[in-house]
Amino acid sequence: MSNLKKEEINDVLNRYDKDGITIATLGSHTSLHILNGAKEEGFKTAVVCEKGRETPYKRFNAADEYILIDKFSDIVNSDIQKKLQSLNSIVIPHGSFVAYAGLDEIENDFIVPMYGNREILRWEAERDLERKLLVEKNIRIPKKYDNPKDIDRSVIVKFPGARGGRGYFVASSHDEFNRKINNMKSRGWIKDSDVEQTHIEEYVAGCNYCIHYFYSQLNDEVELMGMDSRYESSIDGLVRIPAKDQLDINFDPSYLITGNHPVVMRESLLTQVFDIGDKLVKSANKLVPPGLNGPFCMQTLVNDDLEVIVFEISARIDGGTNSFMNGSSYSYLKHGPGMSMGRRIALEIKTAIEKRELSKIIT
Ligand code: ADP
Repeated sequence: MSNLKKEEINDVLNRYDKDGITIATLGSHTSLHILNGAKEEGFKTAVVCEKGRETPYKRFNAADEYILIDKFSDIVNSDIQKKLQSLNSIVIPHGSFVAYAGLDEIENDFIVPMYGNREILRWEAERDLERKLLVEKNIRIPKKYDNPKDIDRSVIVKFPGARGGRGYFVASSHDEFNRKINNMKSRGWIKDSDVEQTHIEEYVAGCNYCIHYFYSQLNDEVELMGMDSRYESSIDGLVRIPAKDQLDINFDPSYLITGNHPVVMRESLLTQVFDIGDKLVKSANKLVPPGLNGPFCMQTLVNDDLEVIVFEISARIDGGTNSFMNGSSYSYLKHGPGMSMGRRIALEIKTAIEKRELSKIIT
């Protein structure tokens, strides 16, 4: 639960010059198109960069202001917060920002106005909370197994914390589960405490679609902005090896994301896509008010029964939006050419300023 009161953020926001707002973020993840979109909508921009990592931002001329820090996590230091406030900054949170700033700091110490809902960031990060959001409105998710003895089909076994899918494995029986767990323990990949916290779920042999939505609080509408599928190491390299050689090399795959492909779904699936997007917005609204606010993502697998099954969500801009920095097939249908997720965020903030409703979309 956030200790920062909405009034504290509003106080900072009230002191801002609304004609001189800066869109700011941490230089990582999706910052290139967040800042580019902000510029296109006429905002000033600032990027907070870790020293030594500023090259792509300078080479792409990403921002008006470069705030250099020794390490990413310094973004929450009080001098950096003051600097951001002095620029009338609205910070756009993304995956790296959340990871480096830290959930506790975002909830309690970071008194810079942010776009989105800072409370919901914890809900996407903790598996049990994330699950609550999904089951509230009966969104189809992989079946969960509380006891490995109950394994009756292929399952994927996950360990706590996002570790890029390292060490995740597939098993089809209790025996196979035990064998693989012991193997991983003997290699030192997991500890006994990890075993207690294993998460076991149905393995969905389907195609991966990460669906990027934008929920406009101002219009009360869920927009489909784009889709990507993941390019993961080592699994996507491994499948380029013929099956018989895969057996020979006895290789343990990981699912570490290294890139994204843009993708579109067969059109008949779009009804489900809008349905689950609308449902997640409703459950978030009920469980973590003010709910979703802006970009969010559902990572799905589509099986051969044509079910869209959600295995993970992001309650903020997701990295896969980098696959449509110049707009996607879907954003084109809604907004015409060139609407990235970053630009859509900036457009919402610009509209809120015009309507004098900024405090409605800021936390
Ligand atoms: P993390 O959050 O640790 O990166 P994810 O839950 O996103 O882990 O899973 C990593 C990868 O594992 C996914 O991108 C997908 O390829 C695969 N995966 C995850 N859950 C399932 C599932 N239920 N069935 C099949 N594959 C899955």
